[in-house]
Amino acid sequence: MTLWVLDAMPFIFAFWGQYVSSIIAYEAGAMVIDQTQELRQQTAVLENQVMHDATHDSLTNLPNRVLLRDRLEQALNHAIRHKYTASLIILDLDRFKEINDTLGHYNGDRLLKQVAVRLEGVVRESDTLCRLGGDEFGILLPIISKKKDIQTIIKKVQKALESPFILEGLTLDIQASIGASIFPDHGKDSDTIIQRADVAMYAAKQDKLGFAIYTTKMDKYSPQRLTLMGELRQAIINNDLVLHFQPKINIKTKSVCGVEALVRWNHEEHGLMMPDEFIPLAERTGLLRQLSRWVLKHTLEQTAAWHENGIAIEVAVNISPSTLLDPELPDTITGLLASYKLPRGTITLEITETSIVKDPDLAMEVLLRLADMGIKISIDDFGTGYSSLSYLKKMPASEVKIDKSFVMDMLENESDAVIVKATIDLAHNLGMRVVAEGVETQEVKNRLEELNCDIVQGYLYSKPLTSQDFPPWFSSWQSS
Ligand code: C2E
Ligand code: MG
Ligand code: MG
Repeated sequence: MTLWVLDAMPFIFAFWGQYVSSIIAYEAGAMVIDQTQELRQQTAVLENQVMHDATHDSLTNLPNRVLLRDRLEQALNHAIRHKYTASLIILDLDRFKEINDTLGHYNGDRLLKQVAVRLEGVVRESDTLCRLGGDEFGILLPIISKKKDIQTIIKKVQKALESPFILEGLTLDIQASIGASIFPDHGKDSDTIIQRADVAMYAAKQDKLGFAIYTTKMDKYSPQRLTLMGELRQAIINNDLVLHFQPKINIKTKSVCGVEALVRWNHEEHGLMMPDEFIPLAERTGLLRQLSRWVLKHTLEQTAAWHENGIAIEVAVNISPSTLLDPELPDTITGLLASYKLPRGTITLEITETSIVKDPDLAMEVLLRLADMGIKISIDDFGTGYSSLSYLKKMPASEVKIDKSFVMDMLENESDAVIVKATIDLAHNLGMRVVAEGVETQEVKNRLEELNCDIVQGYLYSKPLTSQDFPPWFSSWQSS
């Protein structure tokens, strides 16, 4: 019996072994199937995620430029088949950079998210709202019946942005410049439709219109902005920039107390370009430093020439925020003053409130250095920025310039008049003199005189003049 059992053992073990291994194999197989399925699911989720990330903006979770282009192409194909009209709206927040610089990127991002949420409430289900990048949003309207449909949605957008945004306890009024293009009127393909909506938006921004629908006349606003950037570098080297000078008049004595140098670009194709058209460009391309040096050098060179010819005039130069924070600025200016043998008091630097808010400590340090050297500081476009009064008190400035937007409407708009009056009183209390810019009429000048404004500047006296035109204007003013 024992022998028989021993003989049978290998078979029993073999049988048991096979049985166990087949169970293990089965279990393993089932595990592999399970895991494969899980892997497949995970891959599908990941693929969807990648697809979503590639077509959506991570901050607002709105469709991005890629998805917009895709949907625009579909919409255009559909519109061609069914003879529909479609439209693309591009919207860019005004002065977003300033807010971003002042309150930091974190708050800039928070603002963009809030804007996105408000815009989402405005668009119809069939429309696509997307973030094109930065502070730029797009709205695709795949079917519109008339131009009026665009106006309706734009009104809704403007209304949605109307109530102020709250960030860091600050109440911010946010406006946007909005441009629209229409298919098929303004282009037959998606690239042209996008480009023309962009041009319309840019025109709306430049002309402070709030909103504009593309017209061919606007093409001057897209003088291939990219080419321009390259050309600006060359223009500075080739002296294709020119300075115009606008007189500042003492309201009581009527004497000319100085001129403000304003730069223009004499462009071969586009004619005389205004600073608003290329200073932002210079800022973006890192050319501002060179441009500022060019302006300072040529302003002082011209001033020295006038001084030699008996016109002992003071000059003001506009200094953008990034130039002010350039640690070499004080030495550059004193070097130039010395080489043209001009007294330090000859030059005033016009800075804006933004310069101070961006990096208050550094700005204050530079300003104190400049003031110590005897260089005068003026606060330009006063009232349009976000600076606090406590900075104003500490600033070594000798002059405040009230922004022309308040001055020009002060007779019709009571709140502008109140701002002008309050600014004059405040500046005087701080021992500063006040310049009103944008004085176009005698009535405004009279009102400013009643309010004790010190200096006036504007078309009533003279538009900015070329360096050749200034001396004759000056002598005729003096003899009048
Ligand atoms: P800003 O310094 O406030 O200069 C005043 C602007 O108002 C000038 O425009 C001037 O031509 C315009 N203006 C003067 N009087 C009147 C008036 O009575 N009515 C109206 N409607 N406008 C008047 P412009 O020359 O186009 O300059 C625009 C801005 O560009 C300047 O504003 C200044 O911020 C900036 N800018 C000009 N030149 C330079 C520069 O060399 N460097 C820098 N960084 N910025 C400059
Ligand atoms: Mg100025
Ligand atoms: Mg100004």
